Amino acid sequence: MNAQKKKKTIKTIKIDVEKCNGCRACEVICSAFHSSPKYSSNNPAKARIHVICDAVRNIYVPVYAGEYTAAECMGRDKYVIDGKEYDECAFCRASCPSRDRFKEPDTGLPLKCDMCESDPDLKEPWCVQWCLADALTYEEREVEEEEEERPEELEVGLEALIDKYGLDNIVETLARLSEAKEE
Ligand code: SF4
Ligand code: SF4
Repeated sequence: MNAQKKKKTIKTIKIDVEKCNGCRACEVICSAFHSSPKYSSNNPAKARIHVICDAVRNIYVPVYAGEYTAAECMGRDKYVIDGKEYDECAFCRASCPSRDRFKEPDTGLPLKCDMCESDPDLKEPWCVQWCLADALTYEEREVEEEEEERPEELEVGLEALIDKYGLDNIVETLARLSEAKEE
């Protein structure tokens, strides 16, 4: 039996590290777009893009939040840029148990770049629009691929809570909350 194929739009943000000046406008607008209600506040700690800064050497590297992972990886990468060695996890995109980056500071829930998903679609993601240095360029391309179910943001968040507190605790808490709501 042939697997079902469907068209998919791949969204990419190309990063030109040479052009990034470390202004962090991308962090500000990302956190504002994802605040609730939208644009009501901004806190770069809640952004889904973080700019790794080394002002002395004039190096700024924007890193986008990627997938949540429940386990730390066994191997680490070491980067040497212009003779300076960077922290092993400096440019990693994952939200993982070994550090706080790409986690909601209040809840600890994982943050992931969603390309500013909104309805109607934005012409370009906000961080790209706000990057006046043109360090970020948005690109789209169509590909055909086999249908695959992707977990929703809610599912990823629940998985992270279960990893942190255990399934029984989450189920008990939900039952308690739902009873309280019904009263
Ligand atoms: S807005 Fe552009 S120049 Fe400013 S920190 Fe972000 S990527 Fe760099
Ligand atoms: S594309 Fe949108 S969600 Fe992703 S980092 Fe940029 S502003 Fe944040």
